[in-house]
Amino acid sequence: MVIKYKSTRGNEETKTSAEAILKGIAKDKGLFVPISFPTIDKKLEEMTHMDYKEVAFYVLEKFLSDFSEDDLRDAIENAYDEKFEAKEIAPIVKASDAYFLELYHGKTLAFKDMALSILPHLLTKAAKKLGEDKKVVILAATSGDTGKAALEGFSDVDQTEIIVFYPDNGVSEVQKRQMITQEGKNTHVVAIKGNFDDAQSGVKKIFNDDDFNEQMNEKGYVFSSANSINIGRLVPQVVYYVYTYIELLKRGEITSGEKINFVVPTGNFGNILAGYYAKKMGLPIGKLICASNKNNVLYDFLNTGVYNINREFFMTNSPSMDILISSNLERLLYELSDHDESLVKNMMNQLDGESKQYTITPKMKELLKGFYGGFTTEEETIETIKKVYDQSKYVLDTHTAVAYKVYEEYKKETKDDTKTVIVSTASPYKFTKSVIKGVVASTEEKNEFKLIEMLSKNTGISIPEPIKDLDKKEILHDIKCEKDAMKDTVKGILGI
Ligand SMILES: *Cc1c(COP(=O)(O)O)cnc(C)c1O
Repeated sequence: MVIKYKSTRGNEETKTSAEAILKGIAKDKGLFVPISFPTIDKKLEEMTHMDYKEVAFYVLEKFLSDFSEDDLRDAIENAYDEKFEAKEIAPIVKASDAYFLELYHGKTLAFKDMALSILPHLLTKAAKKLGEDKKVVILAATSGDTGKAALEGFSDVDQTEIIVFYPDNGVSEVQKRQMITQEGKNTHVVAIKGNFDDAQSGVKKIFNDDDFNEQMNEKGYVFSSANSINIGRLVPQVVYYVYTYIELLKRGEITSGEKINFVVPTGNFGNILAGYYAKKMGLPIGKLICASNKNNVLYDFLNTGVYNINREFFMTNSPSMDILISSNLERLLYELSDHDESLVKNMMNQLDGESKQYTITPKMKELLKGFYGGFTTEEETIETIKKVYDQSKYVLDTHTAVAYKVYEEYKKETKDDTKTVIVSTASPYKFTKSVIKGVVASTEEKNEFKLIEMLSKNTGISIPEPIKDLDKKEILHDIKCEKDAMKDTVKGILGI
């Protein structure tokens, strides 16, 4: 079965997966989505011998059916190798009353590595297949984690340049250091005076600027995206949902066909959407629990069916979820509306327009029942880190703590005792300044790198290799720009 892709907003012909990955975003500003879903055509209990890479091949081959087997195997081999500190790639740890799917053992210590380790390989293979001879310029907006993971993935990759925009003051010290010390001749890092939404909107604007794109083409460049608006980011994320199920079956934690829940700390709605895609493939998933921080626009949406960004934006201790415009929700709307492209387009225009909100139809709202939304405050996040650490000596990062807290609320409210997996999106070492408050009663220490040592001494968990000596690395990037000067900055970097 060949899976084709098209835009959520309808005004574009169908694409192969290679075309969709290379383009990143559709011309009509919509996102590429599969027209139909492949199904899991093997018995899950017969897949328990598979390791992460084999599951990856199984899933990728279904969605990216126009890639050759050799290309996919080569991409997988190069992505999921010793760059990951855990040999299982995605370890699953049972602690407290849940399973924690640790997606943070890659080079940048956050789950973005799961997809961004493989995206550069898929993208360069797609360019080759399609005979694209222009240099691909990857633009990425980051709330802290995508940026580093994309820089790491694309560093010194032939025929590419990568430009990352991050919100000045909106990322953790470790996140910032990781980015501004990035090596690689083709890497560029820009701090913008604005928040993540400004960065993401700015990047989308550049993608949608026809004149500028034409000008770029003439100079031998094409743009693509490393954000989860690129379908090449989403498909590799479906893999770990399937892998988790198989792994729990193998360990005898669940029986064949038993449904499991996932709790996902959510920002741009990419990770949880990948879970939904896994469910559409036939994976026995009960609820997808969407956990937000104080920026609880998704919580309100899931409860009311109204998505409204007329609200204050907060900077929290889980910064990778500090987002108001969750781009991938558009892909969910496409599914919930039974592929009603004009309806999706209309809603997106409303969100872009003066009202800054849209309301879904009652029928769509009914279909939202597979999701549950919850949110936590910053104080609750720290209390949760403390509680879980005291109880089981397991250390959560702030994002994972948001998820766990929402899970506790969910259980209290629904009495649902379905086995549940908490999708753990970052290493506690990436957000030490906050995590330390849950582990050590109080400290006067302000230096993030001293705090990292303190966290390790207290917990006995060794400091991950990629952030050792990060404070001693040379700073290689120092560009800053106003939020409405992103296009000129791109021009400057490329020398146009
Ligand atoms: C990106 C990120 C999230 C949010 O994931 P989305 O796919 O954007 O919803 C959550 N936690 C961490 C640590 C992240 O880096």
